[in-house]
Amino acid sequence: MSNLIYVASGNQGKLAEIILGVERWQHRRNNKSGERLTVQFELLPNFAHLPRCVEDADTFAGNARKKALHYCRLNKSPRVWVLADDSGLVVDALGGAPGIFSARYAGPNATDADNNEKLLRELNAVPAERRTAGFVCALALADKDALVAEFSGTALGLILEATIGSNGFGYDPLFFDPLSGKSYAEMTAAEKLDRSHRGQALDALLDWLATQLPATSSRF
Ligand code: IMP
Repeated sequence: MSNLIYVASGNQGKLAEIILGVERWQHRRNNKSGERLTVQFELLPNFAHLPRCVEDADTFAGNARKKALHYCRLNKSPRVWVLADDSGLVVDALGGAPGIFSARYAGPNATDADNNEKLLRELNAVPAERRTAGFVCALALADKDALVAEFSGTALGLILEATIGSNGFGYDPLFFDPLSGKSYAEMTAAEKLDRSHRGQALDALLDWLATQLPATSSRF
């Protein structure tokens, strides 16, 4: 395999989060062994003009798998693996909603604010102790016509009764992390990555890649 991995997304923010995740992983690993992971992530070229993947699986992992295989088949650089992710919010008191429909919870063109308002409405009568929820992230890596590996991460928290904080995106201002005592929207990108579903899935991916890719020593 090559040391380049394409991310099946047109979202620079997602790529920035992955690059930050690699830096933090590297930093932790350097402290332990002095080894560097020689992997580089880039957005899949021309992503915006490629035929869209129909995300109709009924799980996050199923949709991540579908996306990875779909975009890998369209990838013009056959030696470069393609990484896809699917993520969302699962709220216990709502039977797992919004789940795989997280991005369009309040409708097909819903904004983050629309989705957050709907979530607050749906949980209106639910007391604090029953507002438990989880963010889930599924990652899938594909090579040509085959799935190479899959990873996932889940972060547990509580849904607040009003938004707090202005960082991040999506449901971050309503997702409270009991361990840090902050909403995700009150955290820096690095703090969130240390706690989040995406950070966990990314760490699992990088741990695995370290066993597949040649590592170089940074001590010399
Ligand atoms: P996607 O898989 O990146 O398209 O995310 C699906 C939807 O889930 C997003 O539009 C957000 O509404 C929600 N979501 C996923 N991850 C996060 C997160 O880390 N913070 C807040 N919302 C998220």
